[in-house]
Amino acid sequence: MKELSRRKFAKTLSKGVGATTLMANVPLACAMSGSNQKKKLGVALVGLGGYSTYQLAPALMDTEHCYLAGIVTGTPAKAKTWANRYNIPEGNIFNYENFDTIKENREIDVVYVVLPNSMHAEFSIRAAKAGKHVICEKPMAMDVRECDEIIKACKDAGVKLGMGYRLHSEPYTQEVKRFVREKTFGEVLYVSADAAYRSTSNPNQWRLDRKLSGGGALVNMGVYAIQSAIYGTGQNPISVQAQEYSTRPEYFKDTDETITAQFEFPSGAVANIMTSHNVIANRLYATCENGWFELDPASTYIPLAGRTSRGELDFKQESQQKLQMDDFAKHILYDAPNLAPGEMGKRDMMIVEAIYKSIQEGGKKQSLGFEPGFGFGG
Ligand code: NAD
Repeated sequence: MKELSRRKFAKTLSKGVGATTLMANVPLACAMSGSNQKKKLGVALVGLGGYSTYQLAPALMDTEHCYLAGIVTGTPAKAKTWANRYNIPEGNIFNYENFDTIKENREIDVVYVVLPNSMHAEFSIRAAKAGKHVICEKPMAMDVRECDEIIKACKDAGVKLGMGYRLHSEPYTQEVKRFVREKTFGEVLYVSADAAYRSTSNPNQWRLDRKLSGGGALVNMGVYAIQSAIYGTGQNPISVQAQEYSTRPEYFKDTDETITAQFEFPSGAVANIMTSHNVIANRLYATCENGWFELDPASTYIPLAGRTSRGELDFKQESQQKLQMDDFAKHILYDAPNLAPGEMGKRDMMIVEAIYKSIQEGGKKQSLGFEPGFGFGG
């Protein structure tokens, strides 16, 4: 990840968002009044790959409202290492086969599914059936049907469902959402959003295997570009048309390499997104009636950076995953807003499917019939 020097303090912009807005309306005392309410929720990570190892577990050492209580892994050696490193008791360690017995475990409140995409639906549904709240990584599932199954399982079980969309808890992104909401620069007219990296390692990795990933760059990085277009305009798109480009077919045998897509929004705003596993780009730029704003990078872990036509943005850098998991825990404990509900993951998957359909039909425009605000978080 690119190392960036700390940004100069914003000269003219107020920093009126972030954590302060989140807790302002939370009825803390009343939420904690039940005698069996716990102050810190126990989280079990399912899948101990790169993201769990280097981002989520370290972040769970710093979270205020939840902690790493358990692990679910198919690799006994990993179970041992993690148990030692994080002091996880034997009874809080599960494998994929005995996972359902997590139901009996009272220390684990939340199951966080961090597996290859093809396993998100199965483990989210099993977690819900075990009575655990669920965080599901992006992309939510392989298709919209699976998203519906996850949402239904969580509703039926009466558990909360959140997406692993960490940026909604991140202060630069929250500031962009505030610009849009408060029309700081007037109406947004155009958004350009890129989310891409260059993949050159192991051609047999699951991300390049459609059976395990559900798609290529679009389902991996593309969801960030889709998200940027939506929170950069504050609306769900009414149409999309898309194009696919392939320059290294020998490497990208099974999944998409580079995709561009254009959205129209109800206000008349338009957006262009680019996602790729072949080029390096990470940016959100919006031009408005009275100025512009930009995040670059816009979706890496930390640090993000941003500027506007009125000056630089500068926010405290904290682990996005820490903020995200604490926000979800506050949603469960105190009824704070769910910043990235399951419907948001489903909406993005509906857009992914429309993009693939447009490509199949030679770039034909696809209508998207979202209810206003569908999938928006609190
Ligand atoms: P990874 O390849 O590093 O880890 C995958 C884990 O799944 C490994 O522990 C592996 O042992 C396990 N696994 C179980 N069955 C497997 C199978 N059949 N094939 C391959 N692995 C299998 O992947 P990752 O980077 O940790 O990504 C996991 C999930 O997290 C993905 O859905 C990804 O999109 C998501 N993710 C999200 C972010 C984010 O910023 N929100 C960042 C990285 C990854």
